[in-house]
This record gives sequence, structure tokens and C-alpha cells, in this order.
Amino acid sequence: MTIRENNLHVTNTLTRRREKFDPLAPPASADSPGEADGPHVGMYVCGPTVYGDAHLGHAKSYISFDVIVRYLRYLGYSVTYVQNITDVGHLTDDADAGEDKVEKAARAKKVHPMQIAEQFTRRYFEDMDALNVLRPDISPRASGHILEQIEHTRKLIERGHAYEANGSVYFDVASWPAYGRLSRRSVEEMLAGARVEVSAEKRHPADFALWKRAEPGHTMRWPSPWGPGYPGWHIECTVMGQKYLGETFDIHGGGIENVFPHHEDEIAQAEAATGKPFVKYWLHNNMVTVGGQKMGKSLGNFLTLRDAFAKWPPMVIRLFILQSHYRSPTDFSEEALEAARSGFERLGGAAAAIEKAAAGAPEGPADGKVGELVEGVRRRFAEAMDDDFNTPLVLSALFDLARDSNRLVSASGLGKGSLEILAATLAELAGDVLGLKFEATAGAADTQIAAALVQILIAMRAEARKAKDFKQADAIRSRLAEAGILLEDTPDGTTWRLK
Ligand SMILES: [Zn+2]
Repeated sequence: MTIRENNLHVTNTLTRRREKFDPLAPPASADSPGEADGPHVGMYVCGPTVYGDAHLGHAKSYISFDVIVRYLRYLGYSVTYVQNITDVGHLTDDADAGEDKVEKAARAKKVHPMQIAEQFTRRYFEDMDALNVLRPDISPRASGHILEQIEHTRKLIERGHAYEANGSVYFDVASWPAYGRLSRRSVEEMLAGARVEVSAEKRHPADFALWKRAEPGHTMRWPSPWGPGYPGWHIECTVMGQKYLGETFDIHGGGIENVFPHHEDEIAQAEAATGKPFVKYWLHNNMVTVGGQKMGKSLGNFLTLRDAFAKWPPMVIRLFILQSHYRSPTDFSEEALEAARSGFERLGGAAAAIEKAAAGAPEGPADGKVGELVEGVRRRFAEAMDDDFNTPLVLSALFDLARDSNRLVSASGLGKGSLEILAATLAELAGDVLGLKFEATAGAADTQIAAALVQILIAMRAEARKAKDFKQADAIRSRLAEAGILLEDTPDGTTWRLK
């Protein structure tokens, strides 16, 4: 397969520049992945730490990179997309302090950490499937790559870039002058800006853990040359990226909050071990905000995808995310989601009108006007996507297409050829590349009806309580619980969620 004509430019965090996308030469060996299907692109994106449900911030990251993968494939590249599952080693504090997030959640629920990881990995994929995020080609678990991480750590010690201290192993930042190249900070600036654990074990406060000694009572532990322990979060991504994509690969993606320390540390570990460049293009998505403030658990402005799906169909949330550029923040508000709902209905309505008209349309070739319209939209689409995946501009071209298509279709007289071109253009640009599924509206309507019914029952329960009919109120609550719907009374009223 050949590459579609394109002029793709991406913003590379490493160089702080917009650069022409020019992937590394396709691997020469016969067993290299995807060679027969077009030039190869290796892409790694930091996956979720699986200790709780995915929220809108995850949707922003994984929908953004999903569209990037979809567009690269649309251009004709054969992409190997790796996105890890972090099930061990991600601590509550970036500076090698705090508890392992998965282990902490497991302790609260009195279950094995792997049970937490398994449960939330499954739920993560269910949520992403609902958003029509294509599954990565490989979803490696950090806990499945302990041997490789030990081996990599051993190599760094051997090369003089890491040292063992009391059963833990740290990367020696002073041994690597290029440290700080991605985040453009000097070590002094990093120390001033970050919470850095004062540790007697570290030679320099900016050194970071490759391997952590397991304290008594720590469940997730593996034998190592330095005693029982577990890997640091940063080494996991370096090792899994290189294992599946090679020592140097094309794209590494992740959230902008991971530039430092996570990605800075990944580069240091990779390049200090191989002496080769680690990644050619670093792409970072911005965050989801509420009224300009980062959405987060601690701020109480946090919305899981499951709660969001109860109010808005997943495809509406997908469109909402794509209405802002992946490198810009997405500000969440109910109004913005409602606007996305009507935008989605406009596109879906145009697709449905084309389909309906096609049923009784006369045979005939495509109309010149339709050809011109589609050509113009395709040109705008390509220019916008080539400009660092500018999905807001793509959507505005598609809204124009929907408007003009409605006008042409309702003026009638369009032959099958014209209608087929309109339908195919929408299916390809909105469907294949942006990943919007219009047929999903039927299921979405059911979700909306279900949400409305739960609200009616909540109101009936409130009335029963007001009338001191607690038997009736409790019956409503427990029967909803049996159906998997949990009510939660808050000072602002009663909310609900799926069990
Ligand atoms: Zn990572």
C-alpha cells in the first residue's frame, strides 16, 4: 500500500517545533511488523494506572491518540500501537514517595492488588469500547515485564548510570548531562518546582527509583539481584516501549502532566542504556478542566466516564473531546456537552437524511455540485488533519458538509450516485477517522430514557420521605439497588450511579 499524499506536521515537545512527520526508515528485516502493508510507524502511549474508573481526562488522552492512529492508518501507514497497563509501581507521589496506587486501593477493599488491577483494566476497556476507541495492538502489563525491567536496571548499573542503595536502585541523574532536555528544566529548577523526597539513600535529590525495595507488608514484590522489590513507574514504560517497538521508535504520547518527571526519566533510562535516541516525536495532550481548573478527584470536580455516560451518549462525549485541539485544554460544562449533543445530532441527522433519500432515489451519476462540495470538504479535512491533527477545524468542515448536504437532499432530485458520494464521505471522514458512530444513537436514546426513569423514581422516593412513608422510600432504594443502580444522598440532593 502506498501513502496517501499528505503534508502531515506534528508538534514535537522534544524540539518545541512543528515538524514534518517523517517516520524512521521501515525496518529492513523480513520479520519486521507491517512492512508489507505500508511504511511502519511505532507508537507508544502511556496507559492508565488501573486502580479506579476512567474519567473524562482519560477520554481526552485516549480519544486524541485514537484519532492520531486512525489518521496515520488512513494515510497508509502500518501502525503498531502499544499502550501499557500500569498495574504496579505508580506511587501516589511522583518523587518516589507515597504508596503504590493499586496496592492502596486493594488494601481499602481488602482484596489482592491484582484483583483491583484486573477489575479496573476490564472496566477501562469497556469504557473505551463505548467511546469507539480502537484497542491498541499490544496492551502490555507492567507486572508481566518484571524480568525485562530488572535486566534494564542491571544494564544501567553496569554502565555507571544507576546505583544500588539499601535494596533500592536509583538512576544517577548527575551521570546523564542530557537530563532535562524534554522538559527544558535544569536540575535546580526541577528541585525547586517538585516535591522531592529527602532521602538518605539518594546521592542527589533528583535521582529517581528504577527499583524499590519492598517494605514488610507490601504485597506486590518480586525477587531481584537487590532483594525483594518492585519496579519504578518510569522504567516500565521505557522497557515495554523498547521491547515491542525497538530501541528507537517514532511516536511516544501521553498527557502533558507526564512530561516531567515521567517522560524525562523514560528518555534518560532508555538513552543511557542504549546510547541511541529513544523517540523521534513526543506528542502530549492537554487536560480536561472545569471552569479553568484541572479536573481531579481531590478538587471534587471529577466525573467518571460511567457517570458521564448516564447523561450523555458516549459518541456525544467523543465529539465534545474532538471539538478542542488535543494540545489545548478541554473545558467541561453541562452546556458544552449539550452543544456537543446537538452537533452530533446534526451530523447524524444528515447521515440519516442521505440514507432515507437513497432508498427512493433514481439511478444516475454524481451531480457536479455534489462533487464540488465533497472535494472542498476533503481538502479542508486533509489540511486540518495535516496541521497537527486539528480536529476542531475538521468538525467545522463536517458541519458545513451536513448543512449543504441537507439543503441538496431536501431540494430533491439527487441521484443515487450523488447520495452515495455524500454517504461515503461522511462515513470515511467522520466515521473511520474521527471514530464517530451514528448508528449508536439508538442505544443512546435508550440510555437517556433509562436516566429519565431513574430521575422519576428518585423524585417519588423524595416525596415518600417527605410524607414520612419510609417503607416506600426504602423499597424504591433497595429495588433500584437490585437492578444495579445505587442512590447516594448528598447535601445537594440525590445522585445515582451504576453499581
Ligand atoms: Zn508511561
